[in-house]
Amino acid sequence: MTRFVCLVHYHELGLKGRNRSVFERKLRANIAHALREIAPLSKVSKLAGRERVTADSFEQAQEIAQRVSLIPGVVRVSCALQCERELEIMCETALAALELAEPYETFKVDARRANTNFPISSMELNQLVGAWLCEKLPQKRVQMRDMDAKVHVEVIENNVYVYVHSIRGVGGLPVGSSGRVVCLLSAGLDSPVAAWRMMRRGARVTGLHFSGAPEVPDTSSYLVGELAQVLSPAGGLDRLICVPFGSYQREISLNVPDKLRVIFYRRLMVAVANVVAKREKAGALVTGESLGQVASQTLANIRAVDEVATLPILRPLIGTDKQEIIDEALRLGTYELSTQDHDDCCTLFMPRNPETHAKLDEVAAAWETLPIQQWVSEITSELVVRAVGQDVE
Ligand code: ATP
Ligand code: MG
Repeated sequence: MTRFVCLVHYHELGLKGRNRSVFERKLRANIAHALREIAPLSKVSKLAGRERVTADSFEQAQEIAQRVSLIPGVVRVSCALQCERELEIMCETALAALELAEPYETFKVDARRANTNFPISSMELNQLVGAWLCEKLPQKRVQMRDMDAKVHVEVIENNVYVYVHSIRGVGGLPVGSSGRVVCLLSAGLDSPVAAWRMMRRGARVTGLHFSGAPEVPDTSSYLVGELAQVLSPAGGLDRLICVPFGSYQREISLNVPDKLRVIFYRRLMVAVANVVAKREKAGALVTGESLGQVASQTLANIRAVDEVATLPILRPLIGTDKQEIIDEALRLGTYELSTQDHDDCCTLFMPRNPETHAKLDEVAAAWETLPIQQWVSEITSELVVRAVGQDVE
């Protein structure tokens, strides 16, 4: 009997010993989570070096493949036909797989057996299945290089999987294999992409947003919520905290030299993020900064902000050009939301000439004059954590 399945391929690199089973379990859980609406848990199972998801139809297998390709850790997904380990049936299934791959003119068979308890070698399988197909398909041609359709015939455990097409996955590591980070998430272009990059390397992300409320309407919190939804199929950005920050910016703008305002906004954000990270048991903070992109992102200013942090601040976009970030945002689907007009705390009380080379002693002197501890306590005593999507584990 032919069944439709998706074969999920992942990198084996660095997956030795105990690590490997932990990695596989997390990946399976994340796949099941991403498919919870279309394929129940029982349909995801382990297969030597792969994960297998069974589907009801080829169309459903394609939909599953599309969703699974977005999950960190997945390198490739193939929509396959599963059949018994009998030569005749394998040939028939290869023919069916080619029919699904129309239109094509040239093809080639690429057979593999994962276990040698199957009596026919890969070379022989290539020849036998290839010859059988040639007879059934007199109008098509076999071609060894640059063929239109390559029919993969894989004998794995007790079954055979036959497929022509695979789609590329996002790569990386399964979410949950690298701990948690707190990402300072604005409604702009950069930080959602930074959050995504951390998810792709296996981190769970708590998003921390500072809005201009109550000085301006809370549009940015709404947009950040939407952005989190867009990123949620990957399973990593699972918690979100929005902080009304406008009144503190007002205080800073009234008490700090003009040009230092932006640095002070960032430093207060980081002071709050320190507390949030401790509560969230996070190992690092993350921002969307890229070196020299705007006045606040010079080496001197980065240093002035880093001083406040009790954890490492990771900046996955530090060496990335704006255009590359835009391209990535377009691919992820965050671009449109990120470019919507909104007031947030970034637009509030902005100085005319922001400092580009903050002097640490000047910053420290002004910092001393503010009731920072009291502000941080006030802000962190009223935090509300929202769950995004549904937690996996
Ligand atoms: P983005 O596109 O992420 O908004 P940006 O180019 O606007 O970044 P900045 O305004 O200098 O750059 O912000 C630098 C980083 O500080 C952001 O990438 C983000 O991580 C953090 N950040 C800025 N504003 C906010 C905010 N309102 N809430 C949370 N984090 C913020
Ligand atoms: Mg911004």
